[in-house]
Amino acid sequence: MASPPKIPLIGMTPLFDSALKNCWMLNEYTNAIEASGGIPVIFSLGLGGEALAAALERVDGILFPGGQDVGPWHYGEEMLPTCGPTEPALDDLEIAMARRAFEMDHPILAICRGMQMLNVALGGSLYQDIPSQLAAASPLPHEQKNRVPVDYPIHSVAVVGGSALHRIVGKGRLQVNSLHHQSVKNPAPALQVSATAPDGVIECIERKTDGAFCLGVQWHPEHLFKRDEDARKIFAAFIEACRG
Ligand code: MN
Repeated sequence: MASPPKIPLIGMTPLFDSALKNCWMLNEYTNAIEASGGIPVIFSLGLGGEALAAALERVDGILFPGGQDVGPWHYGEEMLPTCGPTEPALDDLEIAMARRAFEMDHPILAICRGMQMLNVALGGSLYQDIPSQLAAASPLPHEQKNRVPVDYPIHSVAVVGGSALHRIVGKGRLQVNSLHHQSVKNPAPALQVSATAPDGVIECIERKTDGAFCLGVQWHPEHLFKRDEDARKIFAAFIEACRG
């Protein structure tokens, strides 16, 4: 008799605001994990050292959510006036988690800030502000807040043929939402670009070599989950990888 599919535990970092002394999570992330067959587990901000290692052993995959800008000191740059608010304690937790989870071959899905942080954790860099640094090259608005509801797409991305993303969605072009003012500049040595916007902004990165699922998306599939099959395919592929 076939046993029922494993229900994987998905470790997540919280959203965090140090001024409000508040850690929290948005329902759309946890709903998307649950609807795809996983159990979300929120890691606390104080985890570190052996406790963090033990927590990572007990989960089957990691989801890094959106949030504030990553501190530019993590990729060797001075902070520009156009860089947004940062949360150094969250940077420290997530960078430690990302490096260890990547080494452990844990499946990783990293969304928006999560993708940027993953890239920085593995040695890549970021544009601190698309409108001021890429103004000539980027006529596209990458921030749809106050223009288009977040569960509607605002721009397309071209998917790189042969990439893991291409295998997941089965097509060369996606329509995505966009709620970011930073983007990947130099991909980390272990990562490669798997989708770009029409203005060249990097919108998806993935593990270069075969191995565990490791995908960073600049858009927000959790907002698109209800109305967009491609967003559901991304979560489904992640949870399937976490079943191991
Ligand atoms: Mn975008």
